[in-house]
Amino acid sequence: MARTHAQWKQFAAELNIEGRAFINGAYTSAADGKTFDCINPANGQKLADIAWCGEAEVDAAVKAARAAFDSGAWSELAPLARGKILKRFAALIREHGDELALLETLDMGKPIGDSTTVDVPGAAYCVEWFAEAIDKIGGEVAPVDPKLVGLVTREAIGVVAAVVPWNFPILMASWKFGPALAAGNAVIVKPSEKSPLTAIRLAQLAKDAGIPDGIFQVLPGAGEVGKALALHMDVDCLAFTGSTGVGKLIAGYAAQSNLKRVWLELGGKSPNIVLEDCADIAKAARTAAGGIFFNMGEMCTAGSRVLVHRKVKEQFLAEFKQAAQGWYPGDPLDPATSMGAIVDKIQYDKVLSYVDKGISEGAGLICGGKAAHTDKGLFIEPTAFDCQRPDMTTCREEIFGPVLSVITFDTIDEAVRIANDTEYGLAAAVWTSNVSTAHQVARRLRAGTVWVNCYDEGGDMNFPFGGFKQSGNGRDKSLHALEKYTELKSTLIKL
Ligand code: NAP
Ligand code: MG
Repeated sequence: MARTHAQWKQFAAELNIEGRAFINGAYTSAADGKTFDCINPANGQKLADIAWCGEAEVDAAVKAARAAFDSGAWSELAPLARGKILKRFAALIREHGDELALLETLDMGKPIGDSTTVDVPGAAYCVEWFAEAIDKIGGEVAPVDPKLVGLVTREAIGVVAAVVPWNFPILMASWKFGPALAAGNAVIVKPSEKSPLTAIRLAQLAKDAGIPDGIFQVLPGAGEVGKALALHMDVDCLAFTGSTGVGKLIAGYAAQSNLKRVWLELGGKSPNIVLEDCADIAKAARTAAGGIFFNMGEMCTAGSRVLVHRKVKEQFLAEFKQAAQGWYPGDPLDPATSMGAIVDKIQYDKVLSYVDKGISEGAGLICGGKAAHTDKGLFIEPTAFDCQRPDMTTCREEIFGPVLSVITFDTIDEAVRIANDTEYGLAAAVWTSNVSTAHQVARRLRAGTVWVNCYDEGGDMNFPFGGFKQSGNGRDKSLHALEKYTELKSTLIKL
C-alpha cells in the first residue's frame, strides 16, 4: 500500500545510508579517508558522509574492472545466463523500490510520487529490458565469395565508465549500465556529487543478484573522478550524460589519452510548437506546463521554449497560467507534491539569476518569478516569461529549472526557423490537427525526438534517445544503445 507523508518521514528517519564507494565487490572508504557531505535540498540537513574518491580509487576500480572483464566470468557467460542475473538485479531494484525512491528524493529533492512511479521502476524496467533482449540478437553472415565464410559479430568493448548527472540519478545510470552490462562489459559508475546515494545502494543489489566482483563498481566524488576516468589509459569507453560544456571536456580527455569511445548525452533547449490548428489548446497548455515543470524543470528534454501561434496565444496563456498553479512546490516527501526542491544552492542561484535576467531584459512575467516558501529549502515558483524576441537570454540558454520562455510566431516557416535556431537538438514537439502538417514539421525539426500532440511520452525502451548537434552523439535506450558498448568484428574463414 502507498505510504502517507507521515510514513515517508518516519521511513526517512529510520534509514541507514551507505556512503562508501563500491570497489571490487566491497564497500570501501577513500584511501585517504576523505568524505563530503550529502545534503537534502528540501531542508538543508546533512544525510550522510560520502567517500570523496580520487585517482587512487579510480586506478583501483579500473584495475579490478579489467581483471574481472578479462577473466571472462561475465563477458563469456552465455547471454541467457547474463540475462538471468540481470533480471534478478531488476527484481531486487523493484523489491527495494521504496528505499531507492526515498534515497533519490532525499538526495536531490524530487517528489516521492515521481521517484516511486518514474525513476525507480524505470531503472528496473531498463535493466530487465536489456536482460531480455541480449539472448535474442545475433550477428550476420556476410554474403561473400563461396570460398569464404564471413561472420560479423559484436563483442563487449571492455571497461566502460558511466559519468552521470543528478536530475534522474538512478534512471540515467541505468540507461548506461543496463545495456553495457547486458553486452558483457565491466562498468564503473560515477554519480554526480549532488546525488550519489542510489548508485551506491545499487552496487550491493548488483552483487546480491550475482554480478561478479569488479563488474559493477561505483565511485562517488567530484567531477575530478569523471575526469580521471576519461583520461585513464585503460578505460575503453566513456558514456556521459550531463552538460554540453563538460561533454566537450570529456571528448578532449579521450583525445589526450587513449581515444576511448565517447558517448555524450548533453543539454537541450527544446521547442514545443503550438500551431494555429491545434485541436485542444487546453490540453496543449497543460502538457506544456508538465513539459517544463516536471522534475523542477531539471530535465534535459524540458520543453523550455513554447512557440505559440499569435491567434491562439491568448487562450493558451490563460490555460497555461491555470495549469502552472498545480505545480507550486511542496515537501518532496509528501505524495501530493508535484514539484519538489531544486537540487542544490548552486543550481538554485543559477535558476534565480536567469529569472532576474528575464525580468531585466524586459520579458513579461506570466507567472512565478521568485523563490517559494523557504524554510531552508530550495524552492522556486513555476515561472514563465512572455518573450518579445527569440534572442532573449532565457530563450537561448539552458536554464535547467522551472522557467519557461514563450515566443510568438505568425507562420509555420517562422516557427520552424526559430525552433531550429539553437546549438541544441535533443527534443521538439508540435501540436496540430493536420496529419500532413504534423509529418512535415516533424521532418523539419532538427532533434533526436519529436513529439506530436504530446510531450515527454515514451517511457518504454523502444525509442532511441539522444541528440542532434551539441546535444550529443550516440543513443541511449532501444537496441541501438548496444552499439555504444560493443565493437564490431569481421571474421573471415577461407574454406
Ligand atoms: P554536469 O555538470 O556536466 O555533470 C555531469 C557529470 O559529469 C557529473 O557526474 C559531474 O560530476 C561530472 N563532471 C563534472 N565535471 C567533470 C569533468 N571535468 N570531467 C568529467 N566529469 C565531470 O551536468 P549536471 O549539472 O550534472 O547535469 C545537468 C546537465 O545534464 C544539463 O545540461 C542537462 O541537459 C544534461 N542532461 C542531459 C541528458 C540527456 O540524456 N541528454 C539527461 C539528463 C541531463 P559532479 O556533479 O560531481 O561535478
Ligand atoms: Mg544531495
